[in-house]
Amino acid sequence: MKTKSFNFLPIIILLLAGILFTGTDSFARPPKKPKNIILFIGDGMGVAHVYAGISVNDHPFFLKQFPYSGFSITYSADSYVTDSGAGGTAIACGVKTKNGMIGVLPDGTAAPSITEIAHRNGMSTGVLSTSTVTHATPASFVAHNSGRGNYEDIALDFLKGTVDVFIGGGENNFRSRADGKDLSVDLKAQGFDVVYTIEDLKASKSSRIAGLLAKEHMPTVLEGRDGALEEMVRKATQTLSQDKDGFFLMVEGSMIDWGAHENNIDYTLAEVTDLDKAVGAALEFARTNKETLIVVTADHETGGLTIPAGNLKDKDGEITVNFSTKGHTGVMVPIFSYGPGAEQFSGINENTFFLNRFLKLLKIKK
Ligand code: MG
Ligand code: ZN
Repeated sequence: MKTKSFNFLPIIILLLAGILFTGTDSFARPPKKPKNIILFIGDGMGVAHVYAGISVNDHPFFLKQFPYSGFSITYSADSYVTDSGAGGTAIACGVKTKNGMIGVLPDGTAAPSITEIAHRNGMSTGVLSTSTVTHATPASFVAHNSGRGNYEDIALDFLKGTVDVFIGGGENNFRSRADGKDLSVDLKAQGFDVVYTIEDLKASKSSRIAGLLAKEHMPTVLEGRDGALEEMVRKATQTLSQDKDGFFLMVEGSMIDWGAHENNIDYTLAEVTDLDKAVGAALEFARTNKETLIVVTADHETGGLTIPAGNLKDKDGEITVNFSTKGHTGVMVPIFSYGPGAEQFSGINENTFFLNRFLKLLKIKK
């Protein structure tokens, strides 16, 4: 009968290898917890929107470089198909609410958002969008209102001091108001640098910036907005990263939804590509910073987009698309994540799961 002897050699080698790996900088493990979080929301961006972008694109799609992906289930408190108010609120505040509401529970009581909680815990915060900053998605991170259309009331919530950098359209909601107030005066009194052009935004040295880059929504990419969102991300990360306590930044590609509502694939694709380039700017920051988690998702799918035919042979690719509705749909939307804690965003999740994951990773409480 043969006796088995336990061989310690492989274990010793493994231990030695472990010591060598952890002891060398180039092999040092990345931190498990992020200090900063950048959350991208492609409004209306389903899997087909992303893959249409990948198929026809002229640049190496940055989203393809994300190591983890998952899905988010988007129904609201009162509808299988959510709107951007309830969808944004679920992501920002971790609660399901009724369509048309922002930052509140179905009964109208305020639900704290990740932005507010991060601010209360000493972090810096930012919100960027290509629509007015008072529109449903960005508003869900800043305001509390049972009516997403109360834009002038929502603008007042930006005076509460919970957001240090906000950039997008919407100057009129702050300065051409029914109550006659000019909120830029109040913002300046609070130490905000209020800027109205990309040039002034780039030149700003302030730690608090209100960028109102259009009277209403910003132009679409096809109308000439190309590159603006990327610049907004660069400025926001540069400004917010001055805070040693870390930052939370939400970036919305608002118009993917609008292109899809119009069933206009050129419009939709230009906006998806634009968001991906803004994601590229965030990746560039995160690769150097190393303590930044990036999560990219959507509030819902728009258009019921499908791609029944296509080819990837041409340099630019070619696709045939079908939209099945002019509205939103109830299908799950993708999540892509990169950086410390990224693995926490895989699998199939309710859209309310983001907030608790963020708080746990940042080690902060409501
Ligand atoms: Mg939106
Ligand atoms: Zn929509």
